[in-house]
Amino acid sequence: MSELLNFNYPPEQAVERITFFADVILPLPLPKLYTYRIPFEMNDEVVVGARVIVQFGSKKVLSCIVAEIHQNAPADYQAKYILDVLDDKPIITTPQLRLFKWIADYYMCTLGEVINAALPAALKLSSESRIQLHPHYNPEEDELILAPQEEKIIYALQQNQALTFTDVGNLLQIKSYHKFIKSLIQKEAIIIYEQVSDKFSPKVVKKVRISEHFVQDEGMLEELFNQLAPQPKQLDVLLNYLQKVPVHQDIHLNYKGIAKNELTNSPHLSASSINTLIKKGVLEQFDQVVSRFPVEHQHKLLPMTLSEHQAKAKDEILGQFKEKDTVLLHGVTGSGKTEVYIDLIKHALESGGQVLYLLPEIALTAQIVQRLMKVFGEKLGVYHSKFSDNERAEVWQGILSGRFQVVVGVRSSVFLPFHDLSLVIIDEEHESSYKQYDPAPRYNARETALMMAHLQSAKTLLGSATPSVETYYNCKTGRWGLVEMTKRFGEAQLPDIELVNTREEQHRKNMHSHFSGKLLTAIEERLSRKEQVILFQNRRGYAPFISCDECSWIPKCKHCAVSLSYHKYNNELRCHYCGYHERMPHDCPACGATTLKSMGFGTEKVEDELKLLLPSADVQRMDLDTTKKKNSYQQIIADFETGKTNVLVGTQMVTKGLDFEHVSLVGILNADTIINFPDFRAHERAYQLFVQVSGRAGRKEKPGAVIIQTRDPLQPIFRKVRSNDYQSLYEHEIDERMRFGYPPFVRMIKVIVKHADERVAENAAIVLAKDLTDRLGKQQVLGPEVPYIFKIRNLFLQEVHIKLPRETTNLRTAKGQIAQAIFNLKLLPDFKDVRVVADVDPA
Ligand code: ADP
Ligand code: ZN
Ligand code: ZN
Repeated sequence: MSELLNFNYPPEQAVERITFFADVILPLPLPKLYTYRIPFEMNDEVVVGARVIVQFGSKKVLSCIVAEIHQNAPADYQAKYILDVLDDKPIITTPQLRLFKWIADYYMCTLGEVINAALPAALKLSSESRIQLHPHYNPEEDELILAPQEEKIIYALQQNQALTFTDVGNLLQIKSYHKFIKSLIQKEAIIIYEQVSDKFSPKVVKKVRISEHFVQDEGMLEELFNQLAPQPKQLDVLLNYLQKVPVHQDIHLNYKGIAKNELTNSPHLSASSINTLIKKGVLEQFDQVVSRFPVEHQHKLLPMTLSEHQAKAKDEILGQFKEKDTVLLHGVTGSGKTEVYIDLIKHALESGGQVLYLLPEIALTAQIVQRLMKVFGEKLGVYHSKFSDNERAEVWQGILSGRFQVVVGVRSSVFLPFHDLSLVIIDEEHESSYKQYDPAPRYNARETALMMAHLQSAKTLLGSATPSVETYYNCKTGRWGLVEMTKRFGEAQLPDIELVNTREEQHRKNMHSHFSGKLLTAIEERLSRKEQVILFQNRRGYAPFISCDECSWIPKCKHCAVSLSYHKYNNELRCHYCGYHERMPHDCPACGATTLKSMGFGTEKVEDELKLLLPSADVQRMDLDTTKKKNSYQQIIADFETGKTNVLVGTQMVTKGLDFEHVSLVGILNADTIINFPDFRAHERAYQLFVQVSGRAGRKEKPGAVIIQTRDPLQPIFRKVRSNDYQSLYEHEIDERMRFGYPPFVRMIKVIVKHADERVAENAAIVLAKDLTDRLGKQQVLGPEVPYIFKIRNLFLQEVHIKLPRETTNLRTAKGQIAQAIFNLKLLPDFKDVRVVADVDPA
């Protein structure tokens, strides 16, 4: 059932000229909604969930979302008029608006911040927004039916690369010009201007179909034949079309039409007749976005039938869905969870709902999209930040219009305008990248998706080989269902995991820089057998810091309390927190010595050294530095899949869910920095990371091996990883969480205080912690304390940790108290410009 919003006024009311007001959500961090007056002539046009244009402050004109329509004038200010209406239908649905309110409440931010994060920039318009010609539109050649005002805009865009909305207003000399911009966007003649022009490049085919009203009843079509009788060439075109698209059998076929060149390329049809028919409005020309994804490997993807284990898991999931809304699929790496998802998606679509498939990482979408495309074709939408704003706006609109029924995407896809959701899949549910840290809303897409599913009565399937302790606890207590797959798909076995003691190897002079002899030999062996290798190192860059051999000077960031990382390829020192960078100095600025040494190592160094040590290796690196461009993920993955490269070196990105047939060895270069991390989740995280990265090896016939380099092989975590013993990990963790008061037994809220002056930050945090203690109780408030990285972007940080016992706390009241304490703090003259941020369920 579609729950799209509609707010229609009975026509007689409009005649009576009742004054209506609209509460709108501005895309700004404002604590409340603003009320605007609806001009009488727009009474019929303004609907809840649609965008309208308003003036905010003295200068700014921007688009905002109508949240409510009523007849109450604001008590304390004179409502300004709404200037223009952008949408005739809501672009935000009722359940979506409810979800956004929940996000604002739960994550302690404003509705404006949620809207701002949710809407693609191309849907957030202001007087400074700019438009340009659509890269695929050629005004000289393409026949579009344009209103005179639209023609004027197009003409102006042929002279100028871009126009602001204000320019358009001046050009047309009218106030309500937005509808023309909107119409041109719909006709794909213009797009919202994007600085980086290579960002928007959908593949489109020009297609034609018979104009809608001719096919609606047979009489019309017959009438048309009669009319065209004197023009045999045009009649030919029409008949040819109907032959290829048997509209009389199924009128829906007409909607898809056929590629225009199928008609123009056919030797006995005249191109000019085709164009005449378009001009006459008999045929309708339209662009169809085919697919934005390279389809080269698709032929390799055979249709699959579920194995016995998979079919059983699927049945169990469906069975549990009868009683429970949420089920966890706990399946070892390579057990074939993806195929189970696909089958469930098919099942959900058959009953007519929408499906969201969440992934934690763009790199993963690159692989899975091809698979899904094959099954779901044009029903599949893809959503992530490597797409341009216009492309994202297109997916948004496509979900509203029903064009996309399945969407695969990362974190931000939970903001999309689903209105008829029946299934949500959260793959790799344990991933911390589902949590957004900055800016607000600091939401976790897993929790948000669960709430979204709840609001739309949809089912949720979480999937992981290494579930988060919180999720598994929910299963153990019976709140959620649990289905397990303990075997890899087919003949594939879980890989053998071997530990190499780097401390000992060093003594034996068996370390070649960061590679143990054992790892090097193993890599060499696989490459000689034409197999592939994945190497994991959890730092990017060449070296995390450099240091002077003479005086121990270490370059630090000017703005943050961290050392600068060395990036060799551009000979730069770079801050991974604020982006500050400088050239690598030739000699030490402190003592003048020329003995600057790089310390530690990152992915760049691993790549570099391996190339020297093993010339036969074709190494490719996948980390933040190599995946900046739009298609770089796809390229790196495609090169590895096709065997163009044989070693993939990377950060976290290579650990998650990737599926390569020929990878028979995974190497973890330095396990120690992962284990020794000061956080209550460190143990859980380390387990997940080791198991996941190991899980990339031996996924098909070739048996897999994993080599973990560590200075401390006796760490208990390794035993659990090697025996794939999730149960013992969970039991150990849940016990500690209970004893020391951590999630899932308490909810944590981290309050971060920031100020440019260290003393001010410290004093503010002390005052805040005291107030919070008075309000919430001594047990509940910890700190303030100085975080490990105590300065970022010139702001000194202090943290107060709040722990709210799950059983006994009224969360809403507690959050109200926290908000009040923050508000009161900022009323104090000393602290009015202190920044305070609340992070709910911090990662
Ligand atoms: P997981 O997500 O559980 O780690 P995948 O879904 O990636 O595992 O499946 C592992 C491998 O097994 C993949 O290469 C996949 O193509 C293959 N596979 C899974 N199910 C089937 C099936 N029913 N038929 C053929 N191959 C399958
Ligand atoms: Zn020095
Ligand atoms: Zn910095």
